[in-house]
Amino acid sequence: MIFDIMTLFPELVDHVLGESIIGRAQKSGAIEVSSYNIRDYSKDKHRRVDDTPYGGGKGMLMMAPPIYDCYKDICDKHEELSHSRRVIYMSPSGAVLNQKTAERLSGYDHIIILCGHYEGVDRRIIDEIVDEEISIGDFVLTGGEIPACILVDSVARLVDGVLSDPECYEKESISSGLLEYPQYTRPFDFHGVTVPDILISGHHENIDKWRLEKAIETTKKNRPDMYEEYERRQRVEKKKK
Ligand code: SAM
Repeated sequence: MIFDIMTLFPELVDHVLGESIIGRAQKSGAIEVSSYNIRDYSKDKHRRVDDTPYGGGKGMLMMAPPIYDCYKDICDKHEELSHSRRVIYMSPSGAVLNQKTAERLSGYDHIIILCGHYEGVDRRIIDEIVDEEISIGDFVLTGGEIPACILVDSVARLVDGVLSDPECYEKESISSGLLEYPQYTRPFDFHGVTVPDILISGHHENIDKWRLEKAIETTKKNRPDMYEEYERRQRVEKKKK
């Protein structure tokens, strides 16, 4: 799977995505991540990429032409992937990212991400090239680079060969419809608090039962909306049987 990121700050995304599991996945060839500096596509002698908004208002807007030329360059490079491509603009006005969206996007071969900066980008480029706008939450950041890294991380870890075992994500918070149960490792005693006995009982059925109970408890407390949805799905499953 190929991720191409259009940004004014390529070093930022290269650095974040070059580390740890996502960095290793690039080295192993499971995924490819490239960043493109939109400024390289500016025709202005000062490499300008932004201008004041029509109609007035504070701040600067990223202009459409350099973004379009950058996008065209990426598409020309990966013409063979045009049938399985999604173009995403990271935006606080987009639909909020969740695990379902990450799962859906992991089905594409080519993801192009546009990172905005300043006051955002000229609407015409969004209308012309973008398939969907994605937000990482109901708050405003200074740029789309951190959101782009979050999106790539959440999608890439679902791609074959990125994690050692699909069970790593299948049993995790959210994927299972519940938040994760509490986990423990050595030492057995930390500051006088010991690991729950059940986890050292060796009784796998009881351990699974305990984990489900704890996952339900955590979800009820921290995400009542998610628990409601879990209960609804359980009722549907029961009816089917
Ligand atoms: N004027 C814009 C507005 O009111 O919606 C905000 C622009 S923001 C300062 C600059 C850029 O950061 C955006 O173009 C977008 O790419 C990115 N950004 C900011 N918050 C974001 C969020 N919650 N999710 C995704 N991208 C975000």
